[in-house]
Amino acid sequence: MAVVIDTLKSDNRPRHPEKAHRPDQPIQRKPDWIRVKAPGSPAWAETNRIVKAEGLVTVCEEAGCPNIGECWEKKHATFMIMGDTCTRACAFCNVKTGMPGALDADEPAKIATAVAKLGLHHVVITSVDRDDLDDGGAEHFAQVIRAIRARSPGTTIEVLTPDFLRKDGALEVVVAARPDVFNHNLETVASKYLKVRPGARYFHSIRLLQRVKELDATIFTKSGIMVGLGEERNEVLQLMDDLRSADVDFLTVGQYLQPTKKHHPVIDFITPDAFKGYETIAYTKGFLLVSATPLTRSSHHAGDDFAKLKAARLGKLGR
Ligand code: SF4
Repeated sequence: MAVVIDTLKSDNRPRHPEKAHRPDQPIQRKPDWIRVKAPGSPAWAETNRIVKAEGLVTVCEEAGCPNIGECWEKKHATFMIMGDTCTRACAFCNVKTGMPGALDADEPAKIATAVAKLGLHHVVITSVDRDDLDDGGAEHFAQVIRAIRARSPGTTIEVLTPDFLRKDGALEVVVAARPDVFNHNLETVASKYLKVRPGARYFHSIRLLQRVKELDATIFTKSGIMVGLGEERNEVLQLMDDLRSADVDFLTVGQYLQPTKKHHPVIDFITPDAFKGYETIAYTKGFLLVSATPLTRSSHHAGDDFAKLKAARLGKLGR
């Protein structure tokens, strides 16, 4: 596992020190079908104000998500807990890397306050990887879930977790807090792991999702990948089968976009028709819900998708 230790602690350290020595990879111009809403509307500004007032970190900002204009206008922000610094060094990710600080014991209450102020019916909570913590941050995840439930009992909760690799018992702590949706992203196909997601193990992630269902079959499970990293179509279809073997309910597929010259290059821009093809095949393989478009992201339209998931499950049960 690649754990990055930050010993410099200087203000002018690079955001991704482990990538600083890498050769530049030119950033390709985006095709016409990738167009997003610019941020800046009054509703976007209100979301921004609440996030900043509570001192919270969002993956929308840290990952440079292209959908932030659209999502924040609808007050959909995805909170990133346990700091803004990740102990992994994935080749696709724009979140800062290094050695994170101590956990903020007040964070669960702050998140619960922001969820209440934003009036969220459905909230997505994700985190940086915290390989430095004995439980990978599982108990902190559970505390955040409990704090939101106590303050906003009608809000449904989706977690997007790290893999808790080699942290025995961590997953069970999060599942016991009973999120409504448990998301863990595979990110890419198995053959790309060493280059794209070197600290993770493909089959560990599959097994984690399977274990969630074994522990509590009422929790919806979800996983997502990026395409355009050089994967073969057949590898994506194999990944779908692997996720279905783990009884995963919901698959998201989106176009990878390169954050900086030091990140993994975009190998190809997948056409909207090819995304539609992935969606059709995924449904035939038995997923309850599939979102496959160039701008699909794990948490994009998560609230609407939760309603669709519930309806699809009831439909399957014949109710
Ligand atoms: S898609 Fe997710 S990460 Fe991107 S802006 Fe929307 S809520 Fe934030």
